[in-house]
Amino acid sequence: MLIFDLMSDDLYSVRMRASRQDDHLSGAERLVLAERAEDVAVQLVRRALHHERGAPDSVRLSLEPVRRTEIVRARLPDLRTVRVADFQQGRRAAGKLLQRAGVAPQAIAAALKALTAGAAPGGRSMRGAMLVDAETGRRLEDDPARGVRAGRMDLSACAEQELSVKLARLGLDNPHVREALVLAGKVMAAPGIVAELCWSDDPSYVTGYVAAPDLGYVRLTHLKPAGEERGGRAFFVGSQNLNRQELTTWLERRPVLFEQIGELGGESDWEEM
Ligand code: AMP
Repeated sequence: MLIFDLMSDDLYSVRMRASRQDDHLSGAERLVLAERAEDVAVQLVRRALHHERGAPDSVRLSLEPVRRTEIVRARLPDLRTVRVADFQQGRRAAGKLLQRAGVAPQAIAAALKALTAGAAPGGRSMRGAMLVDAETGRRLEDDPARGVRAGRMDLSACAEQELSVKLARLGLDNPHVREALVLAGKVMAAPGIVAELCWSDDPSYVTGYVAAPDLGYVRLTHLKPAGEERGGRAFFVGSQNLNRQELTTWLERRPVLFEQIGELGGESDWEEM
């Protein structure tokens, strides 16, 4: 039975999630032209099976058609890199940047504490992000193991090519940077978001970032010690007029395609800023 009649320029949301004994190992969210869906699905399965965190005992792959008419078109945030001496300085710098973006000190402290300890029950990494009240630091997500997973976002083919070329000049053309920039771009465009804080759960990837609408995407060269498996994301939200359900649905379901890239800046030293 034909249940969805795809136009040639419609897209697929392709999602992958790999786990072992219910521990999150890796995941990815793409939004691609129907003709690329098969190749991207294979790439994501390969990533799941050869991840540095080890072999999964479960890999879930889902493909859902998305109508082009539903898509929000957007521009990526500007990117810059701040060099920090170590992860302690990186976290202090992240705190200062978040404060500048309007997050209260107690909310920053609560998020840093949760991410450091492993924000899911049992001190594990979550599958998605915490939703954190930017005033009080209270966690607002329904499920503290899953959190909120931003999905259905990607680059148009032209933007992808331009971004790769420009990131390569900075030595940054890798999937970590590309995918995190796209994710942060979607999060920044969501209603009620004040800022985002992230560091990876890949043990060897110690760079993290703070993103905020007025700040752009600020990479911090160290946000965790090498070898640390606990990583995660905090989406800080303003509590006034917040419709949590609407925000969650927007982050998880609203398709966003980045057709323009932002300014890509170089490195500066935190000490000198
Ligand atoms: P990664 O940057 O892929 O190493 O992911 C680091 C952490 O960010 C994961 O452990 C999750 O807690 C969270 N995360 C990963 N992907 C998403 C997503 N699509 N939406 C929200 N949070 C995510």
